[in-house]
Amino acid sequence: MTKVALCACPDYDAANVASAVDRAVTLCGGMEQFVRPGQRVLLKPNMLSAAPLEQRVTTDPAVVRAVGKLVLKAGGRIIIGDSPAIDRVSRISRVNGMKAVAAELGADLIEFCRPILARTPQGSIYHALELEDTALTADVVINLPKLKTHCMMLLTMGVKNLFGTVVGPRKSQWHMHAGTNRILFADLLLDICRTVKPALTILDAVWGMQGRGPNNGTPCHLGFLAASCDPLAMDLALAPLLGAHPASFPLYSAAVRRGLAKSHGSDTQMVGDDPNGLIPKDFQLPVLESAMQVPVFLSGLIRRHLTSRPVQDPVLCQGCGKCAAVCPPGSLRLLETRRAVIDHLTCIRCYCCQEVCPANAIHFKTGALVGIVDRLRAIMPY
Ligand code: SF4
Ligand code: SF4
Repeated sequence: MTKVALCACPDYDAANVASAVDRAVTLCGGMEQFVRPGQRVLLKPNMLSAAPLEQRVTTDPAVVRAVGKLVLKAGGRIIIGDSPAIDRVSRISRVNGMKAVAAELGADLIEFCRPILARTPQGSIYHALELEDTALTADVVINLPKLKTHCMMLLTMGVKNLFGTVVGPRKSQWHMHAGTNRILFADLLLDICRTVKPALTILDAVWGMQGRGPNNGTPCHLGFLAASCDPLAMDLALAPLLGAHPASFPLYSAAVRRGLAKSHGSDTQMVGDDPNGLIPKDFQLPVLESAMQVPVFLSGLIRRHLTSRPVQDPVLCQGCGKCAAVCPPGSLRLLETRRAVIDHLTCIRCYCCQEVCPANAIHFKTGALVGIVDRLRAIMPY
């Protein structure tokens, strides 16, 4: 039986976080079960962008510190690392305080930059994946995601956080490969997760993000930490508690198709605090639609109006060029006037431009499909 531990944690006060992390890890068997003296332990937080901590984009350093102290106590040697899509670990860690925490723990703080080819385990969709060397060669990987909404994948928690082990620009190639097919992208996430095999996942949900996540949503106080040795079990257990209809959660659909979800559902045991008193009922999820649902023979005009599409506000734009740099199919061009020209016919709706924009200058104009999905949901409540 896979355990998913939920532990209340009201804020990022160091003592409160240390106590909640200690309790969550103990409920999963104790750190000594995962880390032996002398082992190299990779802590993989979410370091998406150099946003101030209050925007709740990145895993809070207080959680990394508390987990790191338990690892040190168990005799492990710590590395903290990630590969942000567009920013640098050095800059992000200065802004959000991770650099100071790494120094306090005596940990190496690294940017993933050494991709190696790894064979995936049996039952994977992809036979081999290029992933960060440290994530594959560390003795132990501890996954430290942040609970956020995700405009493409609905939610980002334990499984999605490991997409950070895909090094730099290769992320765009995978977005391009999956195109508008979210289930295919979820398959990739499942294969990455099964290849990296984190020993333990500890989710920072003290403050999370709702609405237009994972970079431009609204901070949301949730007040808990979750932990499990199985990130998929954790994600599938938490998603419905956050109001996610299973059919709208691509990770769930991919896991069901591969025969991974049913066993997880029946083999998962929630331990610790009662989720009903812990998780707010009004958590705001983004509405997903799939451009795949629109037949390709429809004309560009109809297609454009049925599906949501990225729209940029040149007044808010700072001219950083990150949106154009990250766009996998090269559908977005930035003019000198700071106006973005977007080819909505080749755009694959990956939401990367919205995700990396530091000025919240890109949003998705809702297409008619969203209205249809909303109406269907109203008559088929979860
Ligand atoms: S314009 Fe934005 S949503 Fe469309 S493909 Fe480019 S990055 Fe993705
Ligand atoms: S729209 Fe956003 S990401 Fe693109 S150039 Fe402007 S500020 Fe940068």
